[in-house]
Amino acid sequence: MEVVSIVGGGIAGLALAACLEPDRFQVTVYEKRPDLPTVGTVLGMWPNAQRALARVGILAQARAVSPVIGSGSIRNGAGEPWVTVNGGELFGISRVDLLRLLDSAVPDTVRRVTRHLHELPGGEGLLVGADGVHSLVRREVWGAATNARLTSCLAVRGTIPAPVNPDEVGEYWGRGDLFGIAASAGGTNWYASWRSDLGPTAIDVKQALDQARLRFSGHAPAIRQVLAAAVPGLSLAQRIWTTPPLRSYVRGSAVLVGDAAHAMTPNLGRGACESLVDAVTLADLLNSLPQEKALAAYNRQRRLRTRALSLGSAALMRVALAENAQPLRDRLLNLARRRNERAAVGTGSNS
Ligand SMILES: Cc1cc2nc3c(=O)[nH]c(=O)nc-3n(C[C@H](O)[C@H](O)[C@H](O)COP(=O)(O)OP(=O)(O)OC[C@H]3O[C@@H](n4cnc5c(N)ncnc54)[C@H](O)[C@@H]3O)c2cc1C
Repeated sequence: MEVVSIVGGGIAGLALAACLEPDRFQVTVYEKRPDLPTVGTVLGMWPNAQRALARVGILAQARAVSPVIGSGSIRNGAGEPWVTVNGGELFGISRVDLLRLLDSAVPDTVRRVTRHLHELPGGEGLLVGADGVHSLVRREVWGAATNARLTSCLAVRGTIPAPVNPDEVGEYWGRGDLFGIAASAGGTNWYASWRSDLGPTAIDVKQALDQARLRFSGHAPAIRQVLAAAVPGLSLAQRIWTTPPLRSYVRGSAVLVGDAAHAMTPNLGRGACESLVDAVTLADLLNSLPQEKALAAYNRQRRLRTRALSLGSAALMRVALAENAQPLRDRLLNLARRRNERAAVGTGSNS
């Protein structure tokens, strides 16, 4: 049996543990959380993540508990739509449901250790860092120069039990802030971001909600209604951290997956999706190739793609949270909207 130690039993760690061949690998997952979380907001599942969920064997169950995202608009802060995007088959799963389903897919042969590791687990075999943006494995193996980077942006998000109004779904871009409204199972999922001096750690959710209410008080009524209904118990607040670019996700017999390898800003909604893809890609390669070849192939398949998404996500954050460039951004998006409207009228008159 080949020994695999996975530090972190979050999205990436559980998906990997679920997919490694139990007859070939003796897997241990180290996770500091004693229980699965009970509060979490919604993660959009893109097609590549849905394929990964199918590989884990939980796609049908995930779909069954998650609303389809449908179409939504990018709007100005007042709520006027600039562009409407059709989400197609994208669905939004609650992090709580995703972790529960992944957990249930992990075979009994996997050893679970509930412990907050402050040093690397000893012993032979493959060491997997699935321990998120502040990865111990990355720090110990790749060095302190790869420690997480703090952005100036706060992310506050939550759910409210009121059903979502389809006409209000989308993202609202103001001057230096954004607000999102989407469907969640049995209610409305919302998220907000702006530059804030709260944190960086142990942020009081009530204080963050108060700051949000003040910040968005002049924005669209839909935002104000959502924030009026938001409660600390169903909300989360954190500063956004990212992983610096790494030359390789593999070093010796250590490998990084998920946010430990490539934590990105949340603007493209891809972090959890790519964590799932990392996990199933690595598992399938390890299941079919000798370890050294599998790790090299994993690095080739995943590093540049996830780097491109990290860069794209950071660029989108700059546009969405534009301050000085906000008037120019809004003029360009107004022009794009007028062009689309003219094209739609032209198409209508020709038909
Ligand atoms: C505001 C916000 C919104 C987001 N929205 C989306 C979205 O819509 N769609 C999307 O795809 N992604 C989204 N993401 C990104 C997504 O949350 C992450 O990419 C995803 O959680 C990464 O999964 P992971 O398993 O790699 O890391 P994590 O989820 O961070 O899991 C790491 C696990 O390791 C454990 N751990 C850490 N250190 C140790 C240790 N020393 N010892 C033991 N255990 C340890 C932790 O307890 C945790 O369970 C968002 C992120 C943020 C911040």
